[in-house]
Amino acid sequence: MSNSFADVNRYFERAASLLGLSAPLKKQLETPHREVRVECNIRMDDGTVGTFTGFRVQHDNARGPFKGGLRFHQEVEIDEVRALASLMTWKTAVVGIPYGGAKGGITVDPTTLSKGELERLTRKFTAGIHEFIGDTVDIPAPDVNTNAQVMAWIMDEYAKFHGFRPGVVTGKPVELFGSLGREEATGRGVMISIEEHLKTLGKTLADVTYVIQGFGNVGNNAARLLTEAGGKVLGIGDHTGSFYDPAGIDIPAALAWQKANRSLAGFQAPKVERDALLVQRCDVLIPAALGGVITPSVAREVNCSLISEGANGPTTPDADEVLHQRGITVLPDIYANAGGVTVSYFEWVQNIQQFAWDEQRVRRELEVIMRPAYAKIAEVARARSVDMRTAAFMVAIDRVARATELRGA
Ligand code: GLU
Repeated sequence: MSNSFADVNRYFERAASLLGLSAPLKKQLETPHREVRVECNIRMDDGTVGTFTGFRVQHDNARGPFKGGLRFHQEVEIDEVRALASLMTWKTAVVGIPYGGAKGGITVDPTTLSKGELERLTRKFTAGIHEFIGDTVDIPAPDVNTNAQVMAWIMDEYAKFHGFRPGVVTGKPVELFGSLGREEATGRGVMISIEEHLKTLGKTLADVTYVIQGFGNVGNNAARLLTEAGGKVLGIGDHTGSFYDPAGIDIPAALAWQKANRSLAGFQAPKVERDALLVQRCDVLIPAALGGVITPSVAREVNCSLISEGANGPTTPDADEVLHQRGITVLPDIYANAGGVTVSYFEWVQNIQQFAWDEQRVRRELEVIMRPAYAKIAEVARARSVDMRTAAFMVAIDRVARATELRGA
């Protein structure tokens, strides 16, 4: 299951048509600016040569440098990277931060590599793309299976070619010019997206129940923060196990278990099948793992009234229509998970200023970005009688289109 560029463009096309964009402008906005493919051969620990392929797709930079994560996963392929790069363009635009969109990745299952192999692969890939990235050009960040350590290696390798430029990459370790609050930022943004929506219904985070699919950086921080806010998490799951308890899952215990065992395997709570987790009863469903998990058949069975997309592209376009028909509100990925790239932006600002903010400031500024973005999307949704995803794409595309036209050819 993954994201396809054609799927993202279905959303793009619908919103661009409602905005009345001309065919040439649509084509210009839809098409990636540049696609880099690099062969990464490294020495494996056993003395053999490992061959891997890496990609960086730079989708659009009308509103600022290309920006987006790097994912290390066995299913990474060019069409998916293109889709994810395009989503980044609309994500940075909808929250109004001064970037375009990009995405990269390496086709590899990183769990099969030693730490040394992972470092050599990261450095090889960085050497392969160093001419195309930079703090005013294209700024990578973590995504699925990449973390602060990987970003530190990228920063170090890039410095060998261009000197010390910490702003070339975000999501770095705090000891190495990373930002406080970056790690939890996507989960915090998901929480803010839900809180803003609940406000319109006269409810708070503590009034509702949650199911969270995915217990990586996004899912586990969302689970922690929602629990701290008084919410009840009924279901959680990662690739090793899924759990659902109508009485609520002990989230501090799950987090401690994951920390000690690196996954939820063996965690003591009532188990459910992996595919069944998404359709368990709750108020708010948070898909926070990989793309394409909410298919039309899942959409027909989900048992919630709100979905906040912590992952990129978790809902297929056909499933999105089913959800719409069923009256289930979807807070779309390009808004709901924008907290990560927003705090990446704060990290980059701190790097440029050579001045570190405290965590309170990071949290405050994240709210300053995320809360009004909800209001803007909701306003367009109301005014144009469209769902929240279409409205978010309309806000984003309108901003990128204006920037593109103002800059000229
Ligand atoms: N990978 C994250 C995303 O999909 C963060 C990207 C970034 O910080 O540049 O939004």
